[in-house]
Amino acid sequence: MILDRFDRPLRSLRVSVTDRCNLRCQYCMPEADYVWLPRDNVLTFEEIGRIVDAFTETGVDRVRITGGEPLLRRDLPRLVEALAARSAIKDLALTTNGVLLRQQASTLKRAGLHRVTVSLDTLDPQRFAVLTRFDEHRAVLAGIDAAAAAGFQSLKIDSVVIRGVNEGELAALLEYGRRVGAEVRFIEYMDVGGATRWTPEAVVSRREMLSALESRFGAIVPIAEETSAPADRYALPDGTTFGIISSTTEPFCVSCDRSRLTADGMWLMCLYAKAGTDLRRPLRAGATREELVRLISRMWSLRADRGAEERLASARRQPLITLAALKKDAHLEMHTRGG
Ligand code: SAM
Repeated sequence: MILDRFDRPLRSLRVSVTDRCNLRCQYCMPEADYVWLPRDNVLTFEEIGRIVDAFTETGVDRVRITGGEPLLRRDLPRLVEALAARSAIKDLALTTNGVLLRQQASTLKRAGLHRVTVSLDTLDPQRFAVLTRFDEHRAVLAGIDAAAAAGFQSLKIDSVVIRGVNEGELAALLEYGRRVGAEVRFIEYMDVGGATRWTPEAVVSRREMLSALESRFGAIVPIAEETSAPADRYALPDGTTFGIISSTTEPFCVSCDRSRLTADGMWLMCLYAKAGTDLRRPLRAGATREELVRLISRMWSLRADRGAEERLASARRQPLITLAALKKDAHLEMHTRGG
């Protein structure tokens, strides 16, 4: 096992399969125009497989497929099948906005996908349309139903909570999750690339979320768990469980064992990193698996990133990246690095 400078192992890899998305969420892709990754640079499934093999040799055993919107990538079940066949991968998950999930859920399950997380921030179709700029709320709910029916090992719903937008919906989202058999995770609004409209005032903290839920449901009990998962989990008095990802007000860099591969093979060791390691170039230049393993191991052993903690410590907090800088480098975007 390879440890970084703070003794954190490399266990989890988020693989973005496209930087394209079929929604334009205000907190992630709010602009009218984007610079896309050149198509020729986007890794083939075979290339993704070779890179993932190098990662599993260094200790990665959890892989999450993300994007952009991963279900836009043609033949995605083929990639799922190839990854599911690798015994080194113990946990294979997908994060999606759910718009295309109704059509693909059962095929993805058959291909061997273990778990699905659907992003859903509101139960109000009109609010959804304003937040995402597309009238796809009904499609997302149908996608969640299809995923529930397909019988994945677990189904989760991720909701980014934004003041003035959906902070009044926490209880309703929990009740909806309970109805469809999905655990809800509330995510604090983060000042990452893409969040060009982020303000500190728009962040609803974990503490606020818990107190709003407690006044509605009664005492909430934290669930003690020894994991590196980003969410802290809680239980309502009736046993319903949920998670909160408090990356903005209470970061968890100390246990972060995640890194990210963009669709064009850029490897990022922190969600807030401003630069990464290009794995596509060596791969296409003929690097062997051993050479990739050496490169990954060397870079991870130098890792000292703790981006969310550094952001918390910064005095005047504003969006991480200016719009002008984002326009010059697609790799800084949240939709390129996969969230
Ligand atoms: N399109 C897929 C989806 O919607 O789940 C996968 C990619 S998306 C970038 C991954 C996750 O990042 C989503 O759950 C999204 O809500 C989250 N995300 C994007 N921008 C965020 C922000 N500024 N703060 C917190 N979470 C954010």
